[in-house]
Amino acid sequence: MIQVDEYHYSRRKTLAVCIDTLGRVIVRAPKGYPQKKINDFLSAKQDWILRRQQAKKAYAVPLPTSIDGYRLPYLGDTLLLRVYEGQRVREGDGVLYLPQKDTEKRLISWLKKRALAVCRARTDFWQGIMGVTCKDVKVSVAKRKWGSCSSKDEIRYTYRLLYAPVPLIDYVVVHELAHIRHKNHSASFWREVGKYMPDYASRRVQLHRLSSLLEIF
Ligand SMILES: [Zn+2]
Repeated sequence: MIQVDEYHYSRRKTLAVCIDTLGRVIVRAPKGYPQKKINDFLSAKQDWILRRQQAKKAYAVPLPTSIDGYRLPYLGDTLLLRVYEGQRVREGDGVLYLPQKDTEKRLISWLKKRALAVCRARTDFWQGIMGVTCKDVKVSVAKRKWGSCSSKDEIRYTYRLLYAPVPLIDYVVVHELAHIRHKNHSASFWREVGKYMPDYASRRVQLHRLSSLLEIF
């Protein structure tokens, strides 16, 4: 029998099951839908669910149970998080020291600042190569997407991009910069991406596999 992690009942008309980035089983059902029918549906889909779960779990990163002692994925390496008695956020030798007060808040504001610096630098680098200029670079708290480019050519990157290796950050940067010329995902858009990053397809697959990174902090 399939173990369901979350049920969502709403005004939808049909029953659906999906496996999220961590391999959890999410069932979406119309309000008042009989449990018996959900169970039958899950049994019928069992093989598919187990296969999807395995694939997701193979790439899922370990999520933190506490901040202290967690090895945060960071630019293709890890940063060991330590809560200490000091007042300042301090980084050294692969360790990030965080104050006891407002620990998570301080961590996230450090990540946002660092993400802005990294994303600005990578965007500047690729702008030079691609011959485009974006209006502004900002950092967002998005949990569902790595980056976006507005109609006014402002690019936003989620600060969680810091958890990915630089070659994958670069894929997001090139992708968003290509949107300055093409505001869609047409064949010409992908040609533009491929012109500057011939191996973009494999980077895209790798980034997709790492989507569980978006679930950390
Ligand atoms: Zn896009």
